[in-house]
Amino acid sequence: MYVKRVQTMLSRAKKKMMRIERRDDSAPGDLVLTRGRVHTLGAGDGLAEAIAVRNGRITRVGSHDDIAPLIGRETRVIDLAGRSVLPGINDSHLHGVWLGTMWPNLLMDQLAAPAPGPEAHDTGHGHGHGGPASRLETSADRRAAILRTGELLSSLGVTSYTEPGLGPGEDDGPTGCFGSGALRDYADLAAEGLLNARVTALMLFGELDGASSLERFTRGLREFTPPADVPGWFRVAGVKIFADGIPPMRTAWTDEPYADGTYGALLVEGATPERREADLVAMIEAAHAAGHQIGVHATGSRTTRRVAEAFRDAGARDGRDARHYLIHGDLIHPPTLAEMAAAGVGLNTQVGIAVATEEMVAAALGPDALRHAWPVRDALAAGVPLCLSSDAPVLSPDWRKGVAAAVTRTGLDGRARGPEQRIALAQALRAYTVTPAWQDGAEAWKGTLEPGKAADLCVLDADLFDVEVAALPEVPVALTVVDGRIVHEL
Ligand SMILES: [Zn+2]
Repeated sequence: MYVKRVQTMLSRAKKKMMRIERRDDSAPGDLVLTRGRVHTLGAGDGLAEAIAVRNGRITRVGSHDDIAPLIGRETRVIDLAGRSVLPGINDSHLHGVWLGTMWPNLLMDQLAAPAPGPEAHDTGHGHGHGGPASRLETSADRRAAILRTGELLSSLGVTSYTEPGLGPGEDDGPTGCFGSGALRDYADLAAEGLLNARVTALMLFGELDGASSLERFTRGLREFTPPADVPGWFRVAGVKIFADGIPPMRTAWTDEPYADGTYGALLVEGATPERREADLVAMIEAAHAAGHQIGVHATGSRTTRRVAEAFRDAGARDGRDARHYLIHGDLIHPPTLAEMAAAGVGLNTQVGIAVATEEMVAAALGPDALRHAWPVRDALAAGVPLCLSSDAPVLSPDWRKGVAAAVTRTGLDGRARGPEQRIALAQALRAYTVTPAWQDGAEAWKGTLEPGKAADLCVLDADLFDVEVAALPEVPVALTVVDGRIVHEL
């Protein structure tokens, strides 16, 4: 009798627990998007019809019938009417403070861009006015710039970005956009819950686009303490190093000679080429040993090769999954791509710069150099993790233009640049979502639309399958959701 009662009690308790579990699992969503095309970019590049979000997380992805039980009295339901949902866009190389100061002026117009979309009529693209009108002096100035960028990015569906280079190397810089104060401002805004996008930052111990020295770099590593992470919103992941310049200025360090017989040089200080190279490698080793992720601005074929080798050697020593990457990578020879793939080194590049400056590279290095210019298709074929980004305010922060440039490789004049390096739409989308999450070390919780992951979403005002990729920049972003919160709605 007693045993039976206990068994009954246990059975009831179990049923109650199961009920609770089931209720929890199928708790009504805060937000449900349904009757659309949900491009999950998850395993198998799955396509679903509906998605439910609760407490900042994705709870279910499936058919309308799968999701319907999650619609409660308090649930906001949005009928997508066939429109596409993508993971929130991650612009993995974007200067947020600088962009907030410059916008709508850009340093370089993106020549791949068709006519601006209906939501972009107020952008008035400028033709590069150098820097902001006045130097950012105060925390209030920088916070305003960051918040302005946040609003702009929300309107574009961007929910994460990387600030590639903020730190003491620029504390006395001419713009005030890249100093260590900005790191503190980001951390404060994140802690205050005021960021509209998740930010990863790289520290800068030299000057932006300028010289660096091994001595200053290692002192920065030793002495500078970045602000603490704000989980999910702000993280100082590592360091940025400027290794060389750019091919059109003949400041990229190359294997192939410029028209005047020179080969460029590293930006690292040093009396001889050997000293510069040794010091660059020493910087990479020191930052790696300190546990940092490293992004290196590397454009010439010799620089990309040398940096890839240094990443390989540093990683081989301790086996750490460091997620180091080359930034820009204008000229990369095939053996370097193979080296990068084998060592797990990423490439973070901007095809908009390719279509805008290819002629200048050809003028500087001869047309043969173009065979290895912005080789994104070859990089993917070799197995290199590829991130596409805007480098805004160099280019527009509009990822739709970046996707169009990568898929069409076509400039405003209708001429293709490096058409053999075109990539597929699905590949370009992954380079703005899945792989940047990998670059952030955050692929476990963002970058795809799967249950349990962060509810960072970008809804386009069309079905992606109905749009010519060249016309993608004309398709408005209808809705942006960050951490389950709607931050932009048409
Ligand atoms: Zn940049």
